[in-house]
Amino acid sequence: MVAINEIEIVDSSATIEEEIVPEVKDSSTVEPSSYVVDAEVCIGCNICVRKCPVGAITMKDGKAIIDSTKCISCGICADVCPVKAIHKTNDEK
Ligand code: SF4
Ligand code: SF4
Repeated sequence: MVAINEIEIVDSSATIEEEIVPEVKDSSTVEPSSYVVDAEVCIGCNICVRKCPVGAITMKDGKAIIDSTKCISCGICADVCPVKAIHKTNDEK
């Protein structure tokens, strides 16, 4: 019989970052696409504003607006929007 060695579990003191930090691509490689909000569909819930990692979304008149100069096209806002009001501008229709 083989003796089972005790495995020492080292408690890592490193904290796990919960925040999702998408890789920021070099601007020369970023597609010219961005994400846009369909104001007709947006219910102004503010979720996308809170989830955007680069602060590219603001609220105006109860609707979300994406600043395409800041947007890194990570797609998080489109994923979290409960009414699917956010689409990629170059989405094929
Ligand atoms: S695609 Fe990403 S970076 Fe662009 S507005 Fe949405 S959450 Fe922000
Ligand atoms: S998550 Fe969707 S519905 Fe909510 S504010 Fe953003 S675009 Fe509008």
